[in-house]
Amino acid sequence: MSIVSVNPANNQTIREYEPLHKEAAMDAIEKAHKAFGSWRKTSFDERKRCLLKFAKLLREDADEFARTITLDMGKRISESKYEIDYCADIAEFYANGAEEFLADQPMERVDANAYLHLEPIGVLMGVMPWNFPFYQVVRFATPNIMAGNTVMVKHASNVPQCAAAIEELFEECGLPDGVYQNLFIPSEFVDPIVADSRVQGVSLTGSEPAGRAVAASAGKNLKRSVLELGGNDPFIVLDDADMDLVLEQAVKGRMVNAGQSCVASKRFIVLESVADTFVDGLKKQFQELKLGDPMDEETTLAPLSTEDAAKKLLVQVQSSIDAGAKVILGGDRPDRDGAFFNPTILTEVTPDMPTFDQELFGPVATVYIVPDEQAAIELANDSSYGLGGSVYTRDVERGRRVAEQIETGMMFLNQPTNSQAELPFGGIKNSGYGRELSHLGILEFVNKKLIHLG
Ligand code: NAP
Repeated sequence: MSIVSVNPANNQTIREYEPLHKEAAMDAIEKAHKAFGSWRKTSFDERKRCLLKFAKLLREDADEFARTITLDMGKRISESKYEIDYCADIAEFYANGAEEFLADQPMERVDANAYLHLEPIGVLMGVMPWNFPFYQVVRFATPNIMAGNTVMVKHASNVPQCAAAIEELFEECGLPDGVYQNLFIPSEFVDPIVADSRVQGVSLTGSEPAGRAVAASAGKNLKRSVLELGGNDPFIVLDDADMDLVLEQAVKGRMVNAGQSCVASKRFIVLESVADTFVDGLKKQFQELKLGDPMDEETTLAPLSTEDAAKKLLVQVQSSIDAGAKVILGGDRPDRDGAFFNPTILTEVTPDMPTFDQELFGPVATVYIVPDEQAAIELANDSSYGLGGSVYTRDVERGRRVAEQIETGMMFLNQPTNSQAELPFGGIKNSGYGRELSHLGILEFVNKKLIHLG
């Protein structure tokens, strides 16, 4: 098994990393367990000092970290810079908020002196994806470190430079040895790590198959788990929507991270009366995208994360076309080196096509035309996923009525689902369970202990 950084803009290998032997991985658990013994006793102020420094270091060297992201997985450099800045916000949010989020909670409905005392549970394992290689790790690690847990992370194999840089940052910000550890390990090591009695929980952000595997490990070992998996977010356009705004948000929602976001808008469900305007407008906007080097600020569409990812997407798109989907734009890859994919719009995708219920992780929009609001709701809910979604209308009450009927963990009005430190993030159905970010994110791996004083 190799852990290699390959620049997807030209498919050139940048650097290889030596994976850990199994014994070394298991030794890391002991280190994390020992560190927990003392880290759990530190004050919020002490933890806060480290994480505020972590945020400061991120901001000071933002350009360099952004370059590392772009070289590892091909994101546009401006998006990489945004990601670093956002990570600093998340670290600050938990550094400043943890003490309040984890304060004792009086049990007000009993006639007794009883309260909930929130305390850390121990060593946690994080399994993280490549698509937001700093953000995913920071979103998992910072609340848990502030809560007094210690964490180990197995990052995706294609972003080792990011994994190494994050570990270095946690060291530099003053965290004691063993509080944060990056493990360069293959995915097969995750199961024995979760099984170890010193490990108390596991959090995975990634695909549905990886989620099932890790949930099975957690289940058979009775460990707490959080799963943030894939999505097939509906983008519902009602007939009274502001079409200029809709088109602007549709491009933003679909093309974020070259289409490789769990909460990218993937299924455009449009009422018949505005469908022609929508499809024509979207085609025009997609045609204006400029594929190119993600380091170039002028580029508006980056390559996918790896050559394999681009090949997989092509197979998915082609299978829809073979089954009768209509190509409005693209449907293929450009003739150039790198993991590029042309902006694509498909219509007439039907439930019998294999891709109907699959996540298309790239710059591919599927547009569904429906007669009315009720049909839009039914189609939006005809998915095994339930992560995010959005509704477009000038009527807030109508938007709320539709949003409340959609089976997802997050719904936004007149903007695609997005992530903010203060707002809970997570899904239902095959998109996983548990919540990250906000005050809820810090409560997933703490013991809500009842203290009853009579
Ligand atoms: P992935 O292939 O599932 O990989 C995610 C992580 O899981 C990687 O570290 C991977 O390691 C590891 N992994 C894979 N199979 C495993 C197994 N059987 N046991 C233990 N670990 C395993 O997903 P990805 O392609 O990196 O990421 C894209 C997916 O993540 C998409 O479906 C996307 O929607 C989802 N995602 C969800 C959220 C959310 O918050 N809901 C956010 C971002 C992404 P290797 O790299 O070594 O295989």
